[in-house]
Amino acid sequence: MKKKREDAGARIAQLREIINEQNRRYYVENQPVISDFEYDLLLNELQTLEKTYPGYFSENSPTVRVGSDLSDDSVASEFKQATHKYPMLSLSNTYDKDELYAFNERIVKSVESQVDYVCELKIDGSAISLSYYNGRLVRAVTRGDGTTGDDVTSNVRKIKSLPQSLKGSDYPVEFEIRGEIFMPWSSFDEINKKREENEEQLFANPRNAAAGSLKLLDPRIVEERGLETILYHFVSEEKIADSHYEVLQMAGKWGLPVSEHTKVCKNMDEVIDYLNYWDNERKKLPYPTDGVVIKVNDLELQKTLGFTSKSPRWATAYKFKAEQSLTKLLSIDYQVGRTGAITPVANLEPVLLSGTVVKRASLHNLDQMSLMDIHISDYVYVEKGGEIIPKITGVELSMRDKDARIPKFPEFCPDCGTRLVREESEAKHFCPNSEQCPTQIKAKFLHFSGRKAMNILIGEATIDQLYNLNLIRKLPDIFKLTADDLMTMDGWKERSALRFLESLEESKKSPFFKVLFALGIRYIGENSAKSLANHFGNIDNLISASKEDLTEVGDIGEVMAQSVSDYFSSPGNLNVIKELKEIGLNFETTEKKEILSEKLKGCTVVVSGNFSLQREEIKKMVELHSGKNGSSVTSKTTYLLAGEKPGPEKIQKANSLGIKTITEEEFFKLIG
Ligand code: NAD
Repeated sequence: MKKKREDAGARIAQLREIINEQNRRYYVENQPVISDFEYDLLLNELQTLEKTYPGYFSENSPTVRVGSDLSDDSVASEFKQATHKYPMLSLSNTYDKDELYAFNERIVKSVESQVDYVCELKIDGSAISLSYYNGRLVRAVTRGDGTTGDDVTSNVRKIKSLPQSLKGSDYPVEFEIRGEIFMPWSSFDEINKKREENEEQLFANPRNAAAGSLKLLDPRIVEERGLETILYHFVSEEKIADSHYEVLQMAGKWGLPVSEHTKVCKNMDEVIDYLNYWDNERKKLPYPTDGVVIKVNDLELQKTLGFTSKSPRWATAYKFKAEQSLTKLLSIDYQVGRTGAITPVANLEPVLLSGTVVKRASLHNLDQMSLMDIHISDYVYVEKGGEIIPKITGVELSMRDKDARIPKFPEFCPDCGTRLVREESEAKHFCPNSEQCPTQIKAKFLHFSGRKAMNILIGEATIDQLYNLNLIRKLPDIFKLTADDLMTMDGWKERSALRFLESLEESKKSPFFKVLFALGIRYIGENSAKSLANHFGNIDNLISASKEDLTEVGDIGEVMAQSVSDYFSSPGNLNVIKELKEIGLNFETTEKKEILSEKLKGCTVVVSGNFSLQREEIKKMVELHSGKNGSSVTSKTTYLLAGEKPGPEKIQKANSLGIKTITEEEFFKLIG
């Protein structure tokens, strides 16, 4: 008995650790590595064990606390934090319809009468609480840890469908309304397509993309992300109606976006009909949903039923399982990307999935393949995670053929035959022959001439032909092409050749950040190229920047910094830059930085904690007064500017290095 209890204790501790780690990946990093279903199984196991062994209760258990999207202290949040007037909780959930009947029985027993339910689609995005005062949107805060969230008002103001001021006049002076901020499939596909072209990490699903976008520091980029919102929960001191459904209708009249698919159901059978209908119909919706939320309609009854520490007792979520298809794995291709990354792509027996025929699916990398123990001729499950091509999520081992064989991951580049390498920090294998591998060279030209880069009128087929004619090898070669060279190729006439040459001339006027993006440095997308160009001003400063200097730029992390350093340490790349400079490309930011004073000239300031202004505004002030912003306290830091609740690690480091810590007030004095 004692042994059993000890085993349970160890498993409880282990589960808490695993779940907390998955929470961090999901809520903070927006990069989950397991499916929601697997996560819910783990949480369920923990819940059952804690119920059986109540002695192990802990108020810090992930079964008791809402999963938090607030950053760890070490990466202290860039947003001002705000305390919720009413806590923002999670929802209990189930994948089992029978459990909904049990939920109904508990409620009927507790309130001693039959109840009406409101069914709403469970949109898969990120929860937000909006405060309206006198009919105007004044604040938008994320769920955070349920008690405190990040104030993301300036980002939320960029959502076009959300009114800044309300229609009519019968709304309470002060109220909060909560809902979901989500990314429609169309925006998601477009963003991931762009990220794929730039070989940036793809968003795993629209939920992660929405949550990540909401936490971006530049509202202009948020605007480009095409976020939308649907609101579903009204909170106010003032009672405006008797039922949840009526309240939603009123909110709709004030111009707030509410769902048109919400329905009042008289009993659980009607709820089940709603679920069955939407399990199929939801595939036609332009946004992602992962279930249905079932809420008691009567607001007085909601009050009677109350809350647990983590969720309301008057609501629950029924979750849909992700749609899967089973099909046969025929073979695997190994594709070479622009930066040499090798991606295994499965060729499948065609199968219907979410309305489209799927023939190919990504296997990501060798680790993924080994983890699934995948064999050629296996039957595999394919799921549409929302990625450009679907992914294989598992193998049906019971259907494995005795002749099934383990695929052999290539040791050499399938294109140029160079031995592949794999860095410790990378999940992918790479072909290191970036200067001679034909696929990489052609992909580099395609990227260089792309619309978002140098915008040169040339397509994949022409690049192929020019490569085969030995006319292009290194990027500067494109500027040496003549009309005669082009007219030797199929389909080229004098007019098209001249148009190409005109676009080539025009491309020389591209600003520095576009040229930098066009170089195709691994992990450096359009936005990071812009940040680097703005921060360093010209290519020479960028080339001589240390890794530490690079990570001081707002959105440049360790991996990106390493990639930039590696790129500029190659003599071949430096030669390309030298030649492009001679051709006349822009390697300098021409925009003059706005400067108010030189009071912080030569100073590096690290900003940490909450201030009376948004942290980004404080950082802008540092730059306006000629200072530099640093992300971590180092010996090069001049001041640690500490607001309310600064990162304890930063304070400690500043003390140990003898760096001066200043308050917001002292900072304002300093800049006058
Ligand atoms: P949840 O997503 O299961 O349910 C609560 C949330 O639903 C609310 O906060 C709200 O944002 C959303 N929602 C959407 N439509 C709604 C509506 N009409 N009414 C009310 N709420 C609505 O709960 P959670 O606490 O946000 O997240 C827990 C879930 O997240 C887990 O069950 C799991 O599925 C997933 N998760 C997955 C991982 C992973 O690694 N895959 C990790 C952590 C959490």
